[in-house]
Amino acid sequence: MIMKTMTMKEMESKLTDLCKKNIADCSYEDIYTALLHIVDEESAKHVQPVCGRKLYYISAEFLIGKLLSNNLINLGLYDAVKDCLESHGKSMAELEETEPEPSLGNGGLGRLAACFLDSLATLNLPGDGIGLRYHCGLFHQNFENNLQSETPDFWLGSHDWAKRTEKTYTVSLAGKEYEARLYQIAVTGYEGRTNSLNLFDLDTIDPSVIGDGISFDKSDISKNLTLFLYPDDSDDAGRLLRIYQQYLMVSAGAQMIIEESIERGSNLHDLYDYAAVQINDTHPSMVIPELIRLLCDKGIDFNEAVEIVTKVCAYTNHTILAEALEKWPKHYLDTVVPQLVPIIEKLDAIVREKTDDISTVIIDNNQVVHMAHMDIHFSHSTNGVAALHTEILKNSELNNFYKLYPEKFNNKTNGITFRRWLLKCNSLLTEWIKAHIGSGFEKDAAELEKLSAFADDKTALAQLADIKQKNKQALADWLLHTQNVTVNPDSMFMIQSKRLHEYKRQQLNLLYLIHQYFEIKAGHTPMAPITAIFGAKAAPAYTIAKDIIHALLTLSSVIAKDPEVSKWMQIVFIENYNVTAAEKMIPACDLSEQISLASKEASGTGNMKFMLNGALTLGTLDGANVEIADAVGRDNIYIFGQSSNQVIRRYQNSDYCAREWYETDDNIRRAVDFLTNDVMCQNGLKEHLERLQNELIYKDWFQTLPDFNAYIVRKNQAIADYASNPSEWTKKALINISKAGFFSSDRTIAEYNNDIWHLK
Ligand SMILES: *Cc1c(COP(=O)(O)O)cnc(C)c1O
Repeated sequence: MIMKTMTMKEMESKLTDLCKKNIADCSYEDIYTALLHIVDEESAKHVQPVCGRKLYYISAEFLIGKLLSNNLINLGLYDAVKDCLESHGKSMAELEETEPEPSLGNGGLGRLAACFLDSLATLNLPGDGIGLRYHCGLFHQNFENNLQSETPDFWLGSHDWAKRTEKTYTVSLAGKEYEARLYQIAVTGYEGRTNSLNLFDLDTIDPSVIGDGISFDKSDISKNLTLFLYPDDSDDAGRLLRIYQQYLMVSAGAQMIIEESIERGSNLHDLYDYAAVQINDTHPSMVIPELIRLLCDKGIDFNEAVEIVTKVCAYTNHTILAEALEKWPKHYLDTVVPQLVPIIEKLDAIVREKTDDISTVIIDNNQVVHMAHMDIHFSHSTNGVAALHTEILKNSELNNFYKLYPEKFNNKTNGITFRRWLLKCNSLLTEWIKAHIGSGFEKDAAELEKLSAFADDKTALAQLADIKQKNKQALADWLLHTQNVTVNPDSMFMIQSKRLHEYKRQQLNLLYLIHQYFEIKAGHTPMAPITAIFGAKAAPAYTIAKDIIHALLTLSSVIAKDPEVSKWMQIVFIENYNVTAAEKMIPACDLSEQISLASKEASGTGNMKFMLNGALTLGTLDGANVEIADAVGRDNIYIFGQSSNQVIRRYQNSDYCAREWYETDDNIRRAVDFLTNDVMCQNGLKEHLERLQNELIYKDWFQTLPDFNAYIVRKNQAIADYASNPSEWTKKALINISKAGFFSSDRTIAEYNNDIWHLK
């Protein structure tokens, strides 16, 4: 598949040298450590000098996943290692289990950043990441008594990919100076260059301040600053901590950007020729005033500094959920970053000079600072992440800004790296594709279109169906091995895996499963047995999200104890959903659940991964689902539910009343009432179940109930199609794979580069 850079024999002798013993006698830990060394050496050979402009992708999250296999694939070493291990009775799969998954991200936004780094290096573009080295990452999710609990995810072991450097930058936090140390993770491209993920940290971090679960003493930032990603922000100390974290990242990052640019010849007046900065959501927004501050310190006039920074920076918006667009009371910034406040005030004055539209100011009349507003005014590009999302930004959410700067707004539909989400996670499918259309698709994803020639080829379809079956068996084996859960690989696998959030509507899926329970009890069994698989972490302070997990786990117990129902359906909730779990689940999926409330999911990337791996999508016309539907055609996707326009109108008119739907629709009432019936309360906690039930009846902010019946109809149609005509189903899967090329992050990155960064 890949240009091979080492033969198996060469690999064998290298490993034996490094481990100082026979491979058969090595532990997996020995081999892993030796391979870390080999990957280091090989990736260093692909570091290239930067000519011209370099991109800095700043992000609070990088959800990179395990790196060993991915790096081996990108460096052309994978086959040599695999063959070598197998010839000594060892397996790649067991080797992979030795590596802890880096815990540097939360969800789609962080995974996007990771896919982008892979594509940048693969396309030979000079582009580094800038972020933080969280010691415990988000959290490790545990289920006990059908409830989520959280423990620290200590992923930093004695051997990890982040190399400590001698480079430090001084950062002033609340008037005190701290040394931010640079760590670097090599980012390998597929037959491409090696870039760097730059992560900052303090030497003084002390995990002993962690108490019960993931609680910790918030008072001493020298000990806790980079312990966790998204520390609890329900009190002042927590919110201040988030600002401390953000400023550590952007200040050290901005100093590095300026230092590197000067080293490469910039006189700073021409910084734009040396640096492009992409601001991934609002967490890194303070990089704008920080760069201005640093340029002014170097003697550049304020107005010129503003102009330079505006040309250097570009902003990506990831959400239209108002509560997620960060705004901070100005007094927080007075406390943490007093050095930035005069600059932000001047930027606000420039805006107030330019426009009378008070809705676009940076510091509003309540002394609240709007980070996204600063991004849009003082960067040269604002992009949404799918066509529909960008239109909603332009026409409603950010319409006042669009009227000021129509030229700044542009769309960049998200993408995924096919190296991880096909080559690495689905070797059977990769081989099958190569056998049919050659390996050109690895570098040019659009070549997947060539598969459409096989849409009516019975042999090809039978092979494709067989691959899906093997991947389902592999997921079943993994579930048994890691979670002690037995699933039926001959059932239909329907998977919803993504962060737990009401807008993503796991609760809609829950209500469907309750509906199905009633139908089975009444003798109306589904046309095929179904396995509903979930993976999702709920933010620790997000009560309703946790209640949804509790209800699903409780329902799962209820069904498991009921032989009449469990013959036909099973619910599996995967503990601690992360990239590693996603890599097992996605190749095994029959039906991909992308059921967010239309207008709320900016893009989604899980939808793309499932499509590429031959699942059919059951989804609303939201985010990139719209573009997936356009690509595959309505015969090859299951679309249901309200349109984004209908939803937006309901919000504008405030005319949605969940209770009316509950009272007038028998299906809805039966499913919602079930949540607190005797059997549920015997297996779960009444208080939690009741809270969720009340939320659905009296609020239902994300309009679950109006889409409920349409969802049932489409999902049952999908089950019927799957059961009654398997070869037709597989043909649809093939068409989905053949149309997935557009969703390669190589395409996305090429667009960012052509329109925004202009790297060489
Ligand atoms: C792709 C991915 C996501 C994003 O999923 P969406 O369905 O787009 O929200 C979240 N978590 C992990 C581990 C992923 O791999």
